[in-house]
Amino acid sequence: MDTLLVILISVFVVSLISFVGIITLVLRKKEMDRALIFLVSFSAGSCFGGAFIHLLPEAIEKGGAEVVGFALVGILVFFVMEKFLFWQHCHKPGCHEHTFAYMNLVGDGMHNFIDGVVIAASYLASTQLGVASTMAIVLHEIPQEIGDFAVLIKGGFKTNKALLVNFLTALTAVLGALVTFFVLPSLKSQLAPVLSFAAGGFIYIAGSDLVPELHKEVGTKKSIGVFISLILGVILIWLLRFVE
Ligand SMILES: [Zn+2]
Ligand SMILES: [Zn+2]
Repeated sequence: MDTLLVILISVFVVSLISFVGIITLVLRKKEMDRALIFLVSFSAGSCFGGAFIHLLPEAIEKGGAEVVGFALVGILVFFVMEKFLFWQHCHKPGCHEHTFAYMNLVGDGMHNFIDGVVIAASYLASTQLGVASTMAIVLHEIPQEIGDFAVLIKGGFKTNKALLVNFLTALTAVLGALVTFFVLPSLKSQLAPVLSFAAGGFIYIAGSDLVPELHKEVGTKKSIGVFISLILGVILIWLLRFVE
């Protein structure tokens, strides 16, 4: 199939995940947290796996060991993006939840744009890499979008408006993918750094957003379950190596 078409389908599917927030209206918080913890650990495993099994090896193969530094850049950029929201949240005079909801939209849009860049760059490298990145993104977007929706509702948005604006910010992924698809091939040597950067993003998301959530749960039984789903997330992504 045409690469552009596959990219567009992938980013569109990722954008549709923004509607998943609706389940917060059906499930109670306690029930949801119980189910989410396994999804979060599965997703952390898939992000770590995406970074270490697919993106970094591919980036190094294409650009040599030096490109690994771009993974660090990815980590720092994701950190700044999150920290920026946090500053706005805490230090802006007159800051309240509504402002935070808008700031969250900006951060969300930036994040989703980068997700689109990552998906397109991965498919430009290979279909297998594209599928691996899309899968890791789909998995981390589910808890992420549930959180986004909750922030918007808390910030005073009505359900329909919250779903709509969250979907619109998710569509920035399509924009990121299109820009990457048309601009990146003209800078051919830039593919390896972008893949490495993406790996850094995945490592950051898994290590700083997802894993800390897992530590909120205590108890041996649950911890074992969480660890197993983390490993399953890694295995799922690893299995994609054998898909052609
Ligand atoms: Zn994402
Ligand atoms: Zn969102």
